[in-house]
Amino acid sequence: MKGKPPPIETLSACGTDVTIATDHVIGDFVSYGIGGPGRLWAIPKTEAVVGCLLQAIRLSGLPLFILGGGTNVLVSDRGWSGVVLHIADNLSGWRFAGSQVTVRAGTLLMELVQASVDRGLAGIESMAGIPGTVGGALRMNAGAFGQEIGAVTVSVSGYRFNGDPFTAAGADIQFGYRCAPELEGGVITSATLLLEPGRAQPLQHRVAEVLSRRAARQPLEYPSCGSVFKRPPGDYAGRLIEAAGLKGYRIGGAEVSSKHAGFIVNTNKATACDVYRLIGRVQATVKERFGVQLETEVKLIGDFPADCSDAG
Ligand SMILES: Cc1cc2nc3c(=O)[nH]c(=O)nc-3n(C[C@H](O)[C@H](O)[C@H](O)COP(=O)(O)OP(=O)(O)OC[C@H]3O[C@@H](n4cnc5c(N)ncnc54)[C@H](O)[C@@H]3O)c2cc1C
Repeated sequence: MKGKPPPIETLSACGTDVTIATDHVIGDFVSYGIGGPGRLWAIPKTEAVVGCLLQAIRLSGLPLFILGGGTNVLVSDRGWSGVVLHIADNLSGWRFAGSQVTVRAGTLLMELVQASVDRGLAGIESMAGIPGTVGGALRMNAGAFGQEIGAVTVSVSGYRFNGDPFTAAGADIQFGYRCAPELEGGVITSATLLLEPGRAQPLQHRVAEVLSRRAARQPLEYPSCGSVFKRPPGDYAGRLIEAAGLKGYRIGGAEVSSKHAGFIVNTNKATACDVYRLIGRVQATVKERFGVQLETEVKLIGDFPADCSDAG
């Protein structure tokens, strides 16, 4: 009797609009520069093939990890034993129509910000400098300096994990602080944003101002995932971490940034375990000192074995 085909064959059946790869190292595709191999990579070249891929991934029985720009993830040193569905420059590009833009999920948010500003369109200029893709930004409801992507979102399209297509109106998505619950159940392939007509020059100045504020405050010279923790109600994670005396605290190659305590930077070949243990140490210390439980903003991907735990 014929058994189940190997997962690589199941995914390859989706045709030539998808590239299948094995054992790329995830650390090479994420801003931390940390993370072991992904077992199977599916890299779609069209939006349409994503539905087929999701059905094939289901059939394969392997777990799925959607990787965008990899700027908000901490991936295990052991890597990912399932399928990495990579939605990045393989699925990018935009189309402006008046002050609306329809953009593919793998487009870099920074490139979209620049293209919008150059056309004199306002609404996302303060998000200049947020790395990663539009898909990742929607999933995280990324934002900065008073702007969030959810506020300008007209609709989001993609595929549910069973392979069915969906389009959700922005108004039906409960965009919250670094979350968009309705977008957790699928893969985002494109979105339409509504911007506001403005003038290019002041918008370009705003972009320059935002980028220089980021460079002054953030340790951009080291690999990181940005802010590791969400802002606790009425306070800032960075302030609490600094007040707990943890600025500059290190475990292995990972360090609580001495420039911005909300960042944990990879200063010297940090492992995922180093970062994970440092996260645990920071959470425990802040809880003990101030009674505040810091919640992670960064997404932990893969296994973090018991010896990663912060034993003190
Ligand atoms: C230096 C630095 C500064 C930062 N500053 C900010 C900031 O000011 N504001 C802010 O909000 N964030 C900031 N971040 C965090 C990060 O850039 C954002 O969260 C970003 O929007 C993540 O996008 P990404 O494509 O890299 O997502 P990834 O890191 O690849 O993924 C993040 C999550 O989204 C999911 N995902 C990714 N793509 C898709 C898709 N197409 N469909 C469905 N799910 C998907 C992933 O599975 C994962 O759960 C910063 C990060 C760095 C490194």
